[in-house]
Amino acid sequence: MREEELPYKGIEGIPIIKEPGSASKVNRGSWRLVRPVYDREKCTKCKICFTYCPDAAINWTPEGPEINLKSCKGCMICVEECPTDAMTEEKEGT
Ligand code: SF4
Ligand code: SF4
Repeated sequence: MREEELPYKGIEGIPIIKEPGSASKVNRGSWRLVRPVYDREKCTKCKICFTYCPDAAINWTPEGPEINLKSCKGCMICVEECPTDAMTEEKEGT
């Protein structure tokens, strides 16, 4: 669809991504009040945190999850969903 044909064009209040992929340039980690902390000993490598993270801030490695704190905005979904408490919450700055 050409840009001038977009049905939402000109409607106020609807955000438009002008530069797809630009989110990676923003340090979303600076928005965080709390951060997830990972405990490898408790992790069963179930991949739930990796699957549920809405920001794709968890990379999957052969050793398990790896949190990218530049992308993580601290929603704590990974902490909430982890079945073994391998992810826990810590206040920023502590
Ligand atoms: S706190 Fe939220 S954004 Fe950060 S790694 Fe967990 S699920 Fe992803
Ligand atoms: S959800 Fe918890 S147990 Fe599962 S991979 Fe993530 S940290 Fe490990």
